[in-house]
Amino acid sequence: MIGKKLVLGIAFFSLFIISSCKNDDGPADPEIDRTANLLATGDSANDLLSDTTYNSLVLEIVSVRGFELRSSSVQNLTNFLNERINKPGGIRVIQRSIDAPQNEDYSLQQIANIERDQRQNYNSEDEIAVYLFNANRKSEEDTDPDSFTLGAAYRNTSFVLFGSVIQDLGTRNNGVSTEQIESATLQHEFAHLLGLVDLGTPMQTDHLDEENGQHCNVANCLMNFQITFSSGNMNMMGSSDPELDPLCIADLQANGGR
Ligand SMILES: [Zn+2]
Ligand SMILES: [Zn+2]
Repeated sequence: MIGKKLVLGIAFFSLFIISSCKNDDGPADPEIDRTANLLATGDSANDLLSDTTYNSLVLEIVSVRGFELRSSSVQNLTNFLNERINKPGGIRVIQRSIDAPQNEDYSLQQIANIERDQRQNYNSEDEIAVYLFNANRKSEEDTDPDSFTLGAAYRNTSFVLFGSVIQDLGTRNNGVSTEQIESATLQHEFAHLLGLVDLGTPMQTDHLDEENGQHCNVANCLMNFQITFSSGNMNMMGSSDPELDPLCIADLQANGGR
């Protein structure tokens, strides 16, 4: 039994050093300038939050066939972003499905290689691009039977969801649906790209959970390292899905968000 608590993935920031993997980028199209999208998690927080440099945002979602996101989860994410970021030109979502690139658990290097092969959208003059891969297998680092890595933000504009893990948890009848887990994971990982917590967006007050990486020490916050859903009868007490607490929101507002 996993109860009501699900542990979300820790941001795997700074694992990719640009200089060391640049030569391995293989047959990449030399006409595409990828450099602005190969930085560390949180490095583009202000560019994502404010309209100073980029007027709009494009989110490219590449899912393994059979693991496509629920449309309601995508809508929840765009609602969340519209509340928190300043993009007067709007948010575009592009989705497509691909055959499974592999049938074994994923290393972060493999996830990065898939991005290199599949990603089609990079920053342009007015528009910042974010890429999401929705995977058919779990992370190979997910070895603790009591916690589950649901996603990871691994570069400044790149994140991954482990869709097979999310579907698996959603069908266990814990009172939490696949859509709820999917929505919370999408928002949690995207909020790492927005620089939470203390990951490119400076804290206005100290709420860093030092023991658990770049997470929030406020219980029930979306950016707590373990995400809590109220379920069953507790639904009657109010919102059942995790949301950002006021401290996380204040950080975003101070870095160009709202
Ligand atoms: Zn996290
Ligand atoms: Zn928080």
